[in-house]
Amino acid sequence: MSYVDEVYEKVVAQNPSEKEFHQAVKEVLDSLRLVIDANEDEYRKMALLERLVEPERVISFRVPWVDDKGQVQVNKGFRVQFNSAIGPYKGGLRLHPSVNQGILKFLGFEQVFKNSLTGLPIGGGKGGSNFDPKGKSDREVMAFCQSFMTELFKYIGADQDVPAGDIGVGGREIGYLYGQYKRLTGLYEGVLTGKGLTYGGSLARKEATGYGLVYIVDEMLKARGLSLEGKTVLVSGSGNVAIYATEKAQQLGAKVVALCDSTGYIYDKDGIQLDVVKDIKEVRRARLSEYVKAVPTAVYTEGKGIWSIPCDIALPCATQNELDLEDAKTLKANGCFLVAEGANMPSTREATDFYLENGILFMPGKAANAGGVATSALEMTQNSERLSWSFEEVDAKLHDIMVNIYAKVADAAKRYGVEGNYVVGANIAGFEKVVDAMKAQGIV
Ligand code: NDP
Repeated sequence: MSYVDEVYEKVVAQNPSEKEFHQAVKEVLDSLRLVIDANEDEYRKMALLERLVEPERVISFRVPWVDDKGQVQVNKGFRVQFNSAIGPYKGGLRLHPSVNQGILKFLGFEQVFKNSLTGLPIGGGKGGSNFDPKGKSDREVMAFCQSFMTELFKYIGADQDVPAGDIGVGGREIGYLYGQYKRLTGLYEGVLTGKGLTYGGSLARKEATGYGLVYIVDEMLKARGLSLEGKTVLVSGSGNVAIYATEKAQQLGAKVVALCDSTGYIYDKDGIQLDVVKDIKEVRRARLSEYVKAVPTAVYTEGKGIWSIPCDIALPCATQNELDLEDAKTLKANGCFLVAEGANMPSTREATDFYLENGILFMPGKAANAGGVATSALEMTQNSERLSWSFEEVDAKLHDIMVNIYAKVADAAKRYGVEGNYVVGANIAGFEKVVDAMKAQGIV
């Protein structure tokens, strides 16, 4: 049996019921076969893959807090510190009822390669809780965040592990978490990113993941003599990534006609009015169905189905496994020729295989959404320097980083004889740097 298959079987046997983690490991290892097979003896001897798939540390803890009725609630809290070969652990915190250890391990594993691709000195980690912020009062969210940090602060620090936002964690949550960290440690340091602008945050961090996604799409198009001008685009989700992907796509001349949330999707044939969406999602924290009250010519449909709308480009920006084989086939039949992932692993493995086999240009999340973590690393740099850069300066750096990521991914695919296969390209390019650092640091 090949080394890749052996290690994958061990991962499944030793981590039962962590199906998203199995899926991420399989996708990465399969696409690394070309490199691993060529170095099999060396990697096997140093158990390189076994070390790569085992997190350095998983912290799991109880998060008790009191709700507005005086009732004590208990949630699970986690931090997965996956790999610190190239820098302090870096990766978001997710607050969503679906959160469990397997999902955070999949996200932490992906983060290792993504962070490496940015070219910045950041290792990979991820954390979160099965707490559901939806429908909770500000006081309840604060109580939860303070309790969560009361345990987490022991394991993080500006040079050790620097969490950020993810699903369910935006500016409000980062603020409460930061306040509690400072209170417990007495330190005013860059321990979290995505902070508010008045206390160490970076301009353009909020926009970074969505903008970065569109910058890399632009590179994919430019390489083929095309542009976003006049293209019809679908964006799933209506959170942080989706909103700013829509904004940048519109700025570059595309028409974004649909967005969704977990209850349904909106179709606006005239192009989404983003100020209306921002008011619903960022100010009122309401459901997307409200959009049609402000824009009666748009249509709201309950349930899934966003991928059935004809488009040129699809940008899944909601959550893992939101786009399956049937959706991929529908996109193709309706003329879609490019898919780039704002979310982490939004396409199922079957959908990804379909894109690659049917000539759909495809950029996987670990490259396409790396602009968020890259700008988080720029926030860390500004915190260390005790300086704040202008929006234009951060945005220009983000743009350069995305152009470089595209070049690295395209080059790695070409070097290994699979030109245009950005899944293989992204995994190999991310893997090379981490492996070099792991080899140099000995058996740790
Ligand atoms: P948000 O919480 O801001 O938004 C998530 C959006 O996705 C919401 O509109 C949510 O709807 C929707 N959604 C969640 N589950 C589903 C579902 N099953 N079907 C349809 N829609 C759904 O999160 P972010 O925008 O920050 O993150 C989105 C994705 O991007 C995640 O995969 C995250 O890991 C990834 N990502 C985020 C980065 C960042 O900087 N924020 C960086 C890199 C990746 P509802 O409100 O109904 O739940």
